[in-house]
Amino acid sequence: MANKRIVILGGGFAGLQLAKIIRNTGYEITLIDQYNFHQFQPLFYQVATARLEPSSISFPLRKVFQRKHCVHVRLAKVNGIDMAVQKVMTSEGDFSYDYLVIATGCTTNYFGNKNIEQFAFPMKSTTEAIALRNRILLNFEDALSATAEEMPAIMNIVVAGGGPTGVELAGSLAEMKRNVLPRDYPDMDFSQLNIYLVEGGPVTLGPMSKASQQKSQEYLEKMGVQVWTNSIVEDYDGKMVKLKDGRTIPTHTLIWAAGVTGNVPGGIEKEKLVRGNRIRVDQYSRLEGSENVFAIGDISYMETPDFPKGHPQLANVANAQAKNTAHNFRHLLRNEPLKPFKYKNPGTMATVGKRKAVVDLPFMSFQGRIAWFVWMFLHLMLILNVRNKIIVFINWAISYFTNDTTLRLILLPTGKAIEQKNKEQGAGNG
Ligand SMILES: Cc1cc2nc3c(=O)[nH]c(=O)nc-3n(C[C@H](O)[C@H](O)[C@H](O)COP(=O)(O)OP(=O)(O)OC[C@H]3O[C@@H](n4cnc5c(N)ncnc54)[C@H](O)[C@@H]3O)c2cc1C
Repeated sequence: MANKRIVILGGGFAGLQLAKIIRNTGYEITLIDQYNFHQFQPLFYQVATARLEPSSISFPLRKVFQRKHCVHVRLAKVNGIDMAVQKVMTSEGDFSYDYLVIATGCTTNYFGNKNIEQFAFPMKSTTEAIALRNRILLNFEDALSATAEEMPAIMNIVVAGGGPTGVELAGSLAEMKRNVLPRDYPDMDFSQLNIYLVEGGPVTLGPMSKASQQKSQEYLEKMGVQVWTNSIVEDYDGKMVKLKDGRTIPTHTLIWAAGVTGNVPGGIEKEKLVRGNRIRVDQYSRLEGSENVFAIGDISYMETPDFPKGHPQLANVANAQAKNTAHNFRHLLRNEPLKPFKYKNPGTMATVGKRKAVVDLPFMSFQGRIAWFVWMFLHLMLILNVRNKIIVFINWAISYFTNDTTLRLILLPTGKAIEQKNKEQGAGNG
């Protein structure tokens, strides 16, 4: 009898982990992703602020499955699913399945604001992190020949969203302002550079402990970041951020880290979705009412007694759910009962800057130098292969001792950097 075919949509934390665990268990596996590499999202902000090269946090999917005849990697955009005939439709053709696993994660949520979508910089993929790095670096090239009138929009950087992504990014930008930029541009006055962190709620790091919330804000403010809580970004036209309370900030750089929404493939009924565009699943990660379609990682929404509002959208959850699903695929081969998914929260953390991090464990929370080392160690452990762990570690060690990096490359096709710079200045003058 032919092996059963599992099609996995998405090579992120959940999809990749699942494919790796079940690759030798007697299934035919097809792993489909729109990129040919896995992306380590927690360190996107370090790519955006020129601390790490994109290649050190991206891993070619084919390399993970070299010489594995039972795993077929496909570079394709998933368009939809037809559950009636057990088929996935993609940009590269259709794929039939016996079991389907949806692990397509999330994308940036602009809450329906088309202007913000058009003009703001998101950070939900390696390419977006590179685009943001180009923008940040081009800003300072622009500043060299800008008029006094143009300067505020160039020298204001606004980060919307005070969750871990926004906090980490704002902290990293503040360190760039203090340690790196004055060396690169010795003639420029960086006291004019303002970094704003604009958060709609009353605190930064909303889901964390009170101590971590307070400390993160304290760290940021000490580092010179202007933290505006209870402030909602209402609109942005590429030049001016407008807040709901009427305040405005002129800027060419609005970084949007204010929300995510599930990448739900077409063909999933609306009734199966909950807030945040997540797919409701049962305790075995199966779509409710389905025996052979699973959803894992950020895209899935499972209510349990410990997590009545669903699990947090974290890499650890995605990994743990993938492991549980892999375990259940083995049971399915042997017609054994499935095991429900139970997540033991190991804690959450965020870093703000050098020797400044906050960690919440289930039984205690702590901040500062030790938290920072814990954050670094655990993130290194999460990175996929040894080579990348070493590269990231070396980069971190160098910047720890020198407060510098050597990665400030504006990577655009020949002439485009100058073209883009001139275009922006033209727009600024107009
Ligand atoms: C900036 C940032 C910082 C973060 N920091 C942390 C952190 O410090 N700690 C932590 O635990 N978590 C962090 N997270 C969250 C963590 O990255 C996610 O929880 C995790 O990536 C979820 O894994 P996933 O497999 O569900 O989805 P993802 O990792 O997002 O993978 C989804 C995959 O599906 C693919 N895909 C999507 N749609 C399609 C389509 N239509 N066709 C083909 N392929 C498709 C994507 O290309 C992607 O490879 C962070 C996230 C971001 C964005």
